[in-house]
Amino acid sequence: MQIDRKLLEEIISDHDRLVFDHIPTEYLSDALGHLHGEADALLFPKSTVEVSGILRYAYENHIPVTPRGAGTNLVGSTVPIKGGIILDLSRMNRILELDEDTMTAMVEPGVLLQDFQAYVEQRGLFYPPDPGEKASSIGGNISTNAGGMRAVKYGVTRDYVRGLEAVLADGSILNTGGKQVKDASGLSLKNLLIGSEGTLAVITKCLLRLVPKPEASVSVLVPYGDLQTGIQSVLSILRADVAPTAVEFMERKVVALGESFSGIKYPRPDAGSYILLTFDGHRDEVEANLQRVRELVLGDGAMDYIVLADPRQAADIWRVRGALVKAVEAVSEQWPVDIVVPISQTARYIRFINELEAVSGMRMVSFGHAGDGNVHLCVVRDGRDEAAWQEQLHRNMEKAYDKAYALGGVASGEHGIGIEKRPYFLGETPSENLLVMNRIKDALDERHILNDQKSYITGGPKNAEVI
Ligand SMILES: Cc1cc2nc3c(=O)[nH]c(=O)nc-3n(C[C@H](O)[C@H](O)[C@H](O)COP(=O)(O)OP(=O)(O)OC[C@H]3O[C@@H](n4cnc5c(N)ncnc54)[C@H](O)[C@@H]3O)c2cc1C
Repeated sequence: MQIDRKLLEEIISDHDRLVFDHIPTEYLSDALGHLHGEADALLFPKSTVEVSGILRYAYENHIPVTPRGAGTNLVGSTVPIKGGIILDLSRMNRILELDEDTMTAMVEPGVLLQDFQAYVEQRGLFYPPDPGEKASSIGGNISTNAGGMRAVKYGVTRDYVRGLEAVLADGSILNTGGKQVKDASGLSLKNLLIGSEGTLAVITKCLLRLVPKPEASVSVLVPYGDLQTGIQSVLSILRADVAPTAVEFMERKVVALGESFSGIKYPRPDAGSYILLTFDGHRDEVEANLQRVRELVLGDGAMDYIVLADPRQAADIWRVRGALVKAVEAVSEQWPVDIVVPISQTARYIRFINELEAVSGMRMVSFGHAGDGNVHLCVVRDGRDEAAWQEQLHRNMEKAYDKAYALGGVASGEHGIGIEKRPYFLGETPSENLLVMNRIKDALDERHILNDQKSYITGGPKNAEVI
């Protein structure tokens, strides 16, 4: 593929924002680095006009484009499998406006979640979406509809996007949504773009909804003898009208890996599992909910109820939770799963996984967002050679995804489909749904330049012969 370097240099005038040779390998992959692609150019636009110019050029010349935020996805969605251009949005990282009256903020897509959360919290406001990887970008969070720890109370990224500016594949600029709260005016294009994994457009501005910062936030660690008792207890917590902000579950075996990785110890190492809860809101309300849940969980068979009143201890406990994927990766290659089932089926699903682990002899450590049924499994490679790993992994994952769908679940709660989850997602999704998704792709990007053959895309460009 011939890239017109001169023309791209006219669109992006600072030469340090274009890389044509020796593209660093981390830009050719995702957070896990298992899959790598190749690219002819790595571009760092700084404005919507530059993004538009690049896409117009790519579209006219049928050049594949892989949009990229912070590259923290776990599903291969930033791997440039078709070559062409990597469009890295990380330099578009300004917070453009904070409107305290409408409680909204306008940001560029490359702003990191951790920076944005700190910025608004210093001003008494709060941005609730909270995926485990805080060094991810807002544009990436929107493109994957990131979920995370606080979804059980506050919802997911989609619930905090009021409007978007996005550049379509042909370079035209779309504005959708706005500061108004309600909108019943035609199709919601904003919602179509959220979670579309860079397949429909490149997001260049994000209008985000904020809420007042809660007065108090307290976490509690609840150890249980086994995971099943812990997961059953979550249902009583959810039914009790105590509005937990986070309800995470972790098996002791994965916490032990997190402890070795971080050097931080959890109390009650004799537990088989833990539920980690947070309550936020007005101080009195938090105190009352803490008390109520104490009685509930001890009645449900919890071994203890450890209120993490010291903020440093709470931060340490959460740090271990946030590092679990990396902790497993540190001991062996692993394959992360983020299946989501109805919350009433979580215990059943985890029981199935434990049985699958026992029968298959393949380590599967589980943790995740118990409050919303989002089960994170790390399927561990251990000493298997490549052929055995691939064969056993896919044989067992077919069973794991079949079971999830049979229980009314879906392939991904928050990580997206990318490349890695395609076989399971495509195999389980009704053909009518896939057809509609592919028609939408054709309508917005008929030349399939944006992230082609990822996620739901099964068809090819409409006029394939010119490629
Ligand atoms: C340790 C760890 C923990 C994690 N925990 C969670 C979790 O709890 N919850 C969760 O939801 N995710 C989690 N993730 C996954 C990941 O952090 C999220 O998917 C995140 O939203 C990706 O953001 P990013 O900026 O890194 O996007 P990238 O990885 O760069 O891109 C992700 C997708 O978005 C597209 N994209 C990026 N920017 C744009 C843009 N401006 N316009 C159009 N398309 C774009 C890309 O093409 C790609 O398809 C975790 C990852 C790690 C490594």
